[in-house]
Amino acid sequence: MKFWLWIILALSLGSCTFFTQTKPDRPIICFTFDDQHHNVYHLARQALSDYGWRATCFVNSGAIGASGLLSLQQLQELHQDWNWEIGGHTLNHEDLAELDYSEAAYAIEQDYQNLVNWGFNPRSFALPKGVCPAAYFPLIKSHYDYLRGSTDLAMHVPLDPDVLGYLPFQSGWTAQIITDRIKRGIINGESLIIIGFHRIEDPNSIYNANCPIDVFREILSFVKQQNLEVLPLAEAVQKLK
Ligand SMILES: [Zn+2]
Repeated sequence: MKFWLWIILALSLGSCTFFTQTKPDRPIICFTFDDQHHNVYHLARQALSDYGWRATCFVNSGAIGASGLLSLQQLQELHQDWNWEIGGHTLNHEDLAELDYSEAAYAIEQDYQNLVNWGFNPRSFALPKGVCPAAYFPLIKSHYDYLRGSTDLAMHVPLDPDVLGYLPFQSGWTAQIITDRIKRGIINGESLIIIGFHRIEDPNSIYNANCPIDVFREILSFVKQQNLEVLPLAEAVQKLK
């Protein structure tokens, strides 16, 4: 074989190795918890830490400490002691489409400032109700690097950090709905799958559970069986860049 052909072969093999190192062929899984429900601290944290995993909480800082919701101390423990990511979600879950510019700016920026003042170094933002008028988009991007919407998108590298999709768990769902989605992502070679939760409940809870803890544990067990990596959102996106 001619020398230059060897060079081309060597270069292409090298780029293949590089490609497989920077583009995992199995998805990273992110678990996100919206709206600061207190059982995330008691139940989800324990279940995740059994596997050595961490997650992202998207919180409305104006509601921290209210009845049934995470206290500031619990949130700080999640961040400092358990190394969870805390992201923004507006001050009081405002519907940005209903606000004028100054109201939207306050809902986004005061929330961000609260999270910074509490020591959370917020880098990710989840759109409340999944909507953001285009005029307010620069407000969010001036503070945050990663934006999660409310649509379940197939995400492949290179990721668009402004359009991150997710699958929100719905009350009454079985674990299989989530595990089937993850299986599909594995088959399709997706790079990132974000699974979102709100409340994690004790099976004996009198409330309409968003996700019973045994269903949540079944999902975690499947992810472990599949040997998938689990990371908070900002770390996952950073790794896939
Ligand atoms: Zn929310």
